[in-house]
Amino acid sequence: MTTYVYRFSDGDKDQKDLLGGKGANLAEMTRLGLPVPPGFTITTEACRAYMRDGRLPAELRVEVTLAVREIEDTLGRRLGDFHEPLLVSVRSGAKFSMPGMMETVLNIGLNDASVKGLTEFSGDERFAYDSYRRLIQMFGKTVLGIDGELFAHALDEKKRTVGAATDVDLLAQHLRELVEEYKEIVRRESGREFPQHPREQLDMAIEAVFGSWNTDRARLYRRRERIPNDLGTAVNVVSMVFGNLGETSGTGVCFTRDPSTGHSGVYGDYLPNAQGEDVVAGIRNTLQLAELELLDPTSYAELRQAMRRLETHYRDLCDIEFTVERGKLWLLQTRVGKRTAAAAFRIATELADEHLITMDEAISRCTGAQLGQLLFPRFDPDAERVLLTRAMPASPGAAVGEIVLDNAQALERTAAGARVVLVRRETNPDDLQGMIAADGVLTARGGKTSHAAVVARGMGKCAVVGADELLVDHAAGEVRVAGRTLRAGDVIALDGRTGEVFLGDVPVVDSPVMVYIADGLEAGLAAAEDDETRSLLVAVDRVLTHADEVRRMRVRANADTAEDARRARARGAEGIGLCRTEHQFLGDRKRYLERLVLADGDEERAAALADLLPLQRADFVGLLEAMDGLPTTIRLLDPPLHEFLPDLTDLAVRVAVAEATGGADPHDVQLLAAVRHMHEQNPMLGLRGVRLGLKLPGLFALQVRAIAEATVELRRAGRDPQPEIMVPLVGSVRELQIVREEALGVLAEVGAASGVRLDDVPIGCMIELPRAALTAHRIAEEADFFSFGTNDLTQTTWGFSRDDVEGAFFAQYLENGVLTISPFETLDADGVGALVEAGVTGGRATKPGLKTGVCGEHGGDPESIHFFHDVGLDYVSCSPFRVPVARLEAGRAAASREDATA
Ligand code: PEP
Ligand code: MG
Repeated sequence: MTTYVYRFSDGDKDQKDLLGGKGANLAEMTRLGLPVPPGFTITTEACRAYMRDGRLPAELRVEVTLAVREIEDTLGRRLGDFHEPLLVSVRSGAKFSMPGMMETVLNIGLNDASVKGLTEFSGDERFAYDSYRRLIQMFGKTVLGIDGELFAHALDEKKRTVGAATDVDLLAQHLRELVEEYKEIVRRESGREFPQHPREQLDMAIEAVFGSWNTDRARLYRRRERIPNDLGTAVNVVSMVFGNLGETSGTGVCFTRDPSTGHSGVYGDYLPNAQGEDVVAGIRNTLQLAELELLDPTSYAELRQAMRRLETHYRDLCDIEFTVERGKLWLLQTRVGKRTAAAAFRIATELADEHLITMDEAISRCTGAQLGQLLFPRFDPDAERVLLTRAMPASPGAAVGEIVLDNAQALERTAAGARVVLVRRETNPDDLQGMIAADGVLTARGGKTSHAAVVARGMGKCAVVGADELLVDHAAGEVRVAGRTLRAGDVIALDGRTGEVFLGDVPVVDSPVMVYIADGLEAGLAAAEDDETRSLLVAVDRVLTHADEVRRMRVRANADTAEDARRARARGAEGIGLCRTEHQFLGDRKRYLERLVLADGDEERAAALADLLPLQRADFVGLLEAMDGLPTTIRLLDPPLHEFLPDLTDLAVRVAVAEATGGADPHDVQLLAAVRHMHEQNPMLGLRGVRLGLKLPGLFALQVRAIAEATVELRRAGRDPQPEIMVPLVGSVRELQIVREEALGVLAEVGAASGVRLDDVPIGCMIELPRAALTAHRIAEEADFFSFGTNDLTQTTWGFSRDDVEGAFFAQYLENGVLTISPFETLDADGVGALVEAGVTGGRATKPGLKTGVCGEHGGDPESIHFFHDVGLDYVSCSPFRVPVARLEAGRAAASREDATA
């Protein structure tokens, strides 16, 4: 029989699939003997059963009863008792953290009778009724689906009529009245009484938490974070401890290291006399954790010990939620904490220095995406800037954009192409859409652990929070700060590293990590402004150096010009995996191709080719010189013809107009006839690649000659060019065989004439059609190497036109879950990946050790890189900018695989 309920003492941290992250970690802390309030976890399996059947599994009732009784016996208190009632919280907790996206109900077990018991237990009637009204409010909103504004409004009304400035000024009597008013709201809005039976409250809350897995905002969050929809959430039922029992109580969040910088020390927020989510919601500004030492040295010392224990146990940065109830410390949650990109690199290397982790583990904890964030430009410190305010830097980066004050404005302005900064008093989960749309987030309230901070850090978005000089007047559409009134649409700039907020546009410069990548560690250190930056550069360098040491795959770049090649080489590219020669004919040079393609007869074509030779030779000399000593794959021409020929409609109109007004240019008329003749309905599936090479005799031979002559020229000059000739869009071995024979002939001829060896130049092909992948064993007979063109392979495997579909219907496909991400961005491992694997296997069956690489866009995508490592490719090739990211990811792929087998 399935077990749906696990006591905290039954589970451990490795059971996240079943118990969710929160449940697994509560269990782990319990096992470690840390002070966790007694409780239990209802598994994600129960949630999946609920989603499948539309009701809770029948056995769950009994299991919950047994587990609740155990808590009651442990604590010697009964749920909903009218002496010393046990109260519980019901909290969501999925495998992957989804901060604030799902529901929580606190104070379950309170009713008209037990509220008196709580008064007795706490000696504080005000507290008891405040807890009760919070329960009705939370339960009403989350479980009964009543508009939360109704409760908030009643609370405001009460404060107004009794003349209370804040919630805290309400007396017990006022709160008692409020409870009655809240119950009336429940009656009116839901057509039923607020449930008095504690068990009914508990069951309904459990069901509501399961239901909250599928709210719109939770689905949106998962789509963005690429969390599968079918995992479900666990539910944690935890006995309540109270942080709002007076000045010796409080609640807080802490980190074992600073999640923004990575430095070790005492980081966190503490809010005396407060309950539950008050800290995370960012509603009241918090104290720094260090101040707890003055307020309650014993709890502080115990907390510090628990922090050290957890960091040692998890061997990573942990974040911890805790409550002090009348001087007694309780831990309510821990997890491996989210961190900024800079913190990730520092923490990883520091933990390695402390011998808590190996360097292989260190690199597995720094992602390519995080490195990518560090490469973003930032504000020019020398530019003139108007400082508006300075607040807490909660998530780094530099954002410039128009002020927007809510989701609707954010979506409207970004749809119109604007960049925006979301400015809010504080954020809550409903602001997620606006946060996604914005480049940065600025709030007036809240600390580093507020919702805005946590979510922005998770998304790698710049955020500045707790700017208390900022007055956000949403109703008036205004933001007042530093004596100015700004309106939606005014431009501001946020510096997520310093917490500064500037008026207007501020120019940006290369990030220090970019300087390091491009010019080396010494140059980076010399240019760095402070020790903070220097320590970051050293950490990044150590991680990248280790990744370079352990990675099996080489990293090359896609580069078409000598300048691109130099840039790529500076970033650590170990060759060129794809030079698209058609890109050498953009702009002015387009006419050369046009002339060649439209040439009438052998003579015209020969003349067109002869003109091309010196151009191409010079191109290749430049490229091979820049990549001296490194393999340089030059792909023979693969021009989608529609991009290189005059547009049929334009030309037809021009000719028609000219004819109507006295006669067209004979050249245009001839051109029109030729373009009509070559017009294709599906040019991306038409006369491209090797097909064009075979159709236009002499074209490929000319390019091979240019490569050969460039190589001769450089070798004679004592250089070491390493060209590799690549044939595009091969579908049949015969296509490759014809081109290869011709190419070998040209190489032999140029070699013989010059006396320079050219028989070492490899000739290989792209594998970018399903047929090529499936007949790879045949194609390998004629190929010295394979390079997977996963752009075309994705296009032809899915039948998705790469130029059209992303804009046409991908949004919908992502919405309804056909896709979780565009297959043009991250390799579709199941489909396209299976063809890549078949291609590698087939090719190596014929030629063991056949060199294989990838040069589609996926070569720079972190997840895809891990796939390519797994199927045994020798290299990935990506745009120069992504080379450092690919080096790191290739290292991580190698390190994690070794870990897995160790
Ligand atoms: C590919 O198809 O993946 C590829 C690299 O070639 P192109 O993008 O030039 O078609
Ligand atoms: Mg292609």
